[in-house]
Amino acid sequence: MTPIRTTCPYCGVGCGMLVSREEGGISGGYSVRGDPEHPANFGRLCSKGAALGETLSLEGRLLHPEIDGVQTSWDVALDTVAQRFRQVIEEHGPDAVAFYVSGQLLSEDYYVANKLMKGFIGSGNIDTNSRLCMSSAVAGHKRAFGSDTVPGCYEDLELADLVVLVGSNAAWTHPVVFQRLVAAKKARPAMRVVVIDPRRTATSDLADLHLAIKPGMDAWLFNGLLNHLAREGALAWRYLEAHVEGFGAALEAVNSLSIPQVAEHSGLAQADVAEFYRLFTQTAKTVTVFSQGINQSSSGVDKANAIINVHLATGRVGLPGASPFSITGQPNAMGGREVGGLANQLAAHMDFTPEGIDRVGRFWSAPNMAQQPGLKAVDLFQAIGEGRIKALWIMATNPAVSLPEADRVVAALRNCPFVVVSDVVARTDTSVHAHVRLPAAAWGEKDGTVTNSERRISRQRAFLPPPGEAQPDWWMVNEVARRMGYGEHFGYAGPAEIFREHAALSGFENEGTRDFDLSGMITVVPAQAGIQVVRQTSISPTHWIPAFAGMTDQDYDSLSPVQWPVTPQGGTSRLFADGRFFTPSGRARMLPIAPRPPAHAPDAAHPFILNTGRIRDQWHTMTRTAKVARLLAHIDQPFVEIHPQDARRIGLKDGALARVKNDNGEMLARVLESREQQIGSLFAPIHWNGQFTGQGRVDALVHAVTDPISGQPEFKQTPVAIEPYPAAWYGFVMESSAGILAGKPTLAAGELPKGRGFITPALPGHAFTSGYWARVRGKACWRHEIAGIEVPADWPSRMRGMLKLSGDWMEMKDSGATRYRGALIQDGRLLAVYFLEREADRLPPRHWLESLFERDALSDAERGALLLGRPSQAVPDSGRIVCACFGVGENDLNQAIAEGAASVEALGIELKAGSNCGSCIPELKRLLQRQ
Ligand code: SF4
Repeated sequence: MTPIRTTCPYCGVGCGMLVSREEGGISGGYSVRGDPEHPANFGRLCSKGAALGETLSLEGRLLHPEIDGVQTSWDVALDTVAQRFRQVIEEHGPDAVAFYVSGQLLSEDYYVANKLMKGFIGSGNIDTNSRLCMSSAVAGHKRAFGSDTVPGCYEDLELADLVVLVGSNAAWTHPVVFQRLVAAKKARPAMRVVVIDPRRTATSDLADLHLAIKPGMDAWLFNGLLNHLAREGALAWRYLEAHVEGFGAALEAVNSLSIPQVAEHSGLAQADVAEFYRLFTQTAKTVTVFSQGINQSSSGVDKANAIINVHLATGRVGLPGASPFSITGQPNAMGGREVGGLANQLAAHMDFTPEGIDRVGRFWSAPNMAQQPGLKAVDLFQAIGEGRIKALWIMATNPAVSLPEADRVVAALRNCPFVVVSDVVARTDTSVHAHVRLPAAAWGEKDGTVTNSERRISRQRAFLPPPGEAQPDWWMVNEVARRMGYGEHFGYAGPAEIFREHAALSGFENEGTRDFDLSGMITVVPAQAGIQVVRQTSISPTHWIPAFAGMTDQDYDSLSPVQWPVTPQGGTSRLFADGRFFTPSGRARMLPIAPRPPAHAPDAAHPFILNTGRIRDQWHTMTRTAKVARLLAHIDQPFVEIHPQDARRIGLKDGALARVKNDNGEMLARVLESREQQIGSLFAPIHWNGQFTGQGRVDALVHAVTDPISGQPEFKQTPVAIEPYPAAWYGFVMESSAGILAGKPTLAAGELPKGRGFITPALPGHAFTSGYWARVRGKACWRHEIAGIEVPADWPSRMRGMLKLSGDWMEMKDSGATRYRGALIQDGRLLAVYFLEREADRLPPRHWLESLFERDALSDAERGALLLGRPSQAVPDSGRIVCACFGVGENDLNQAIAEGAASVEALGIELKAGSNCGSCIPELKRLLQRQ
């Protein structure tokens, strides 16, 4: 098979990939490697991207449309959706329906959904989960530049002499861009890196200066920098006078802010603040990368503008190696911004202005143009909870996990009269509340485009047929639109046709007035009435869809990565180097920023500030990454990171369970002691959800407070309490991942597409306990770590009752009901084990038991050892996986270090660790320092 060029579906770096078929390989033999010709990654992939080939099994997939949990046909499902949406609109008006979409969608999916809602249903109620990650940057850009434009590109990080990373753990969240920065710094040791983050993270490892700022106080720091630049005579006055407005007010707002005051507000040492200011002042080629630590705040837009202010004040915008740089979280957050997937945007970077509404309305021939912005994500779900929205379609996202006050979101979904969920996965915390579930095509099965953080549009290309009855999202929306009576305008034959229309809209009556312009890629066919062309399609002999030439389907198929705006001469690496912006005056705007603290301050009942974020090897709600054992072997359970002094004071032990809580809800997580955490602060990951753990959803705690302009929630500063979880017992269940315990596969093996796996929904841990449980994938088994407060006396019988299989049970139970051990063996093979103890450290080593699931048959000694609860002889244990690319564990690394490997390079030679994506290098360095 000729390798297929496609794009990684995870983070906003947007790495290009080559996918090939390799007989006998894992997951039906699809291998994934970085595309050496893709300008985002030049062949590199991180641990998540490199493992994509192992996520292709059909395990857990939704394969057929369902209504109320019962399989149905596409026709019935789509008719039902269209009829219920029509009915709600007729009875309650268009604002009684909504779409909640996702940065996981391709631009073509997004475009069709946005067009249906804003042009034909006539409501602005389509918002995207990208609201949660970068809408503050969008608003900051628009206030400063008059457009949502990222002025620079990744190359700028390599060209800069100073890179400032603010609120970004890029080493884990955007690993390939981070590795480009690492390589650049290695090549030019004079380059300086400053990291501004309350935590010391893997990213800080690269920093010449780490500013462990007080959570949420970034605007003080950048305001102080603006004042410092003015005092040092470092303002670019000629640039300001020619190209910027508002600088007088912006400077006045900061002119009394001294370094000691900044240090006091931000919790930093004066010397560190002064050093940062010195570096910024003296370094013309400076890039400031900002991300969720800035955006996810009740004053995120102001913080973004405080950063942009210092770049405008020094004329460092859109120049090689000099720019502010917002880096997005999701693979197509940027594409969503382009099509208008945010409720307050219209389409193609046009807003709800009278001219914008008129222009887009004429382009679409839309009968019901929305006249005003719709509800932003948090407000949208509040409206659902209050009964104002009565029909909701959620596409490719999981708001029951990811939105703040997630328990209230669940309550809203339960009360909503009609919920549609289109998703790849059969069961999510959200889809269990859906009346209609629609099976979506997954990465590898769908075609379209995505745009990464540097405005680069790349193709995602299918290399697999959709399984079962799965369909791409654009097709579902198109079909519902037709059934709602808009067939004349929704007759798309495929993504190429949608993209051409999207590109044409971007250029429609643009004439250089809007930043987002793809018209250089296509040519609009001249028509008598505006741009509409009557065209025959299979749907209707007079089907009104704009027609475009200049990009054939073949051109679309072979589209090379390109940065917008795209002129006939090609893409654009940087914008604004000429000092012209998209404001009415053509000048950029500096804004006076009045810093605000986080909306909720800690108090006696909630003395800790909880920060949330991603970890290195998981993506979003784990539907794909948790299928790969080595990705879960780095961090396998939800955790809460706490400084050891705080842990000691509260009576928490490293590795034990803790309850984190406030008035919104609570979560259970493993304690991770770390000196990299500030005293008084906690960190917990966003990934774990109801399918992988009991009470592990951190966003159940986060307050639904948002930035007043962007509507982005404050995920980073939630006051909480933490206490030990008083478990009376601990245990685990392991089940073979061959799927036999979970009952019949939903597809017979013969029906499966060649080379794909079985569907094996694993045993839900909550069947065992109402306390703590977490599901972990091993190489040949699933493991459920469990703990509870009440000792479940009937636990063995419950376990047996769940297993419908014949086999030999071996069991051991003590008279005090404090210990149970059981193993199920069939034809000599181990199918399941369970262990329960009063004390966690009495449980046997998991790696030993995991190794037994890989055997064809157990020996007598191994059977005996099962009941004894310990191996008959030592079993090698590699330890927690540190290098996910090569599966290298902590114990093996420590041994290599003890035997003389004294550098990261030496560990790479010895064990290959750190020699692929490089994401684990900061951890390797820490292991080296420890010895
Ligand atoms: S950095 Fe990793 S997750 Fe992000 S796009 Fe590249 S391979 Fe995918």
